[in-house]
Amino acid sequence: MKAEIIAVGSELLLGQITNTNATFIAKNLAEVGIDVYYHTVVGDNPKRLDEAISIAQQRADLIIFSGGLGPTKDDLTKETIAKRLSSSLIMDRKALGNIEAYFKRTKRTMTENNKKQALIIDGATVLENRNGMAPGMAIEKEGKRYILLPGPPHEMEPMFINEAIPYIVGAVGIREVIASKVLKFYGIGEAELEHRVQDIIERQTNPTVAPLASRDAVTLRITAKANSTEAAQNLIAPVEAEIRALVGEFIYGIDEDTLSSKAAELLLQQSLTISAAESLTAGLFMSELSEQAGISASLKGGTVVYNEEEKQRQLHVPKELIEKYGVVSKECAAALAQQVKLKFNSDIGVGLTGVAGPDPHDQKPMGTVWIGIETHKGEVKTFKLELSGTRNTNRRRAANFALYYLIK
Ligand code: ATP
Ligand code: MG
Repeated sequence: MKAEIIAVGSELLLGQITNTNATFIAKNLAEVGIDVYYHTVVGDNPKRLDEAISIAQQRADLIIFSGGLGPTKDDLTKETIAKRLSSSLIMDRKALGNIEAYFKRTKRTMTENNKKQALIIDGATVLENRNGMAPGMAIEKEGKRYILLPGPPHEMEPMFINEAIPYIVGAVGIREVIASKVLKFYGIGEAELEHRVQDIIERQTNPTVAPLASRDAVTLRITAKANSTEAAQNLIAPVEAEIRALVGEFIYGIDEDTLSSKAAELLLQQSLTISAAESLTAGLFMSELSEQAGISASLKGGTVVYNEEEKQRQLHVPKELIEKYGVVSKECAAALAQQVKLKFNSDIGVGLTGVAGPDPHDQKPMGTVWIGIETHKGEVKTFKLELSGTRNTNRRRAANFALYYLIK
């Protein structure tokens, strides 16, 4: 089966946005063994889109569209495809119901334009959009298959994985099963990780091992193909073990785990309470933890003590300590952790202090961070970071490192 991806959008042609949808779609098609032969980009212009479809029909069996399913005038993808396939657009009751419910929920008024989003090509299978309004579509006509996806990646990606891939796999009768496992790393850079596991990456063909860096984590995805899920998992297991033997100390979780979900899991499992005194992160650490449902059983509270005076006034960090070591110090981080633990009567206390930047502080360079943790056993641990990001990436990383040290 030959596939072609047609990304629709003038912003793509103008270079205002990057065609990440094509990358995502291609990668995931490769995983189910479908070869993508062409990536096409075309503007919001019905005539040129029609030409692009006509060319794709001559050279591909599966044509995947992204973008142009929205409510505005320039969104013309489905209209153009319907015309080319000599089909009409019909109102899909379920999609209309979803759109009406969305407007009701968000207390906004629906316009006639929005109704347009519930129009589907006659005979199409609807691909549900759980993150937006425009439904996706899958159609088969004269031996060719067409998949229509919305442009916004947060709508397109889950729809592609959860709805389009099963449709495609079912339609073309792929017998192979793909299983993958994602290992999540913290405290090691992407380059360093790749370097350390390079042999494994290069040697493997099934499973394959692919590194991926997201905003705050580095991951390795192990993907195996076999004729059953169990067989695929059996291929993954020894490779995972090999990776763990090399760089296991940096692995904090798998698949959907995040640093905060793992930290919350640990606190809740052990029935431990926590509080934090935050200087440079000004609440980011607590905010990350508070994203986890049920965390109120563990998260007692915290204080943002941004300046020197408040560290003394609210958390009784001794003036002499600050004079002797400065606020960005091992001693201050430890004192913050101990004092906040006392103040909130929690099992664990966390202290974060550092130089976010751009200017140095007390002759300590931007990116210097100290994290203090007093454990439930009364042990005080401190960690120094030398971060090299911008002010706000440093702040975020400091909060993430504190979560990482909690689960380590
Ligand atoms: P909407 O309902 O938001 O209008 P749509 O299906 O009509 O969705 P477009 O109008 O084409 O989609 O694009 C909406 C937004 O989605 C774009 O502004 C862009 O941010 C993002 N987007 C569109 N196409 C791509 C692409 N190929 N790669 C990455 N992002 C994209
Ligand atoms: Mg649009």
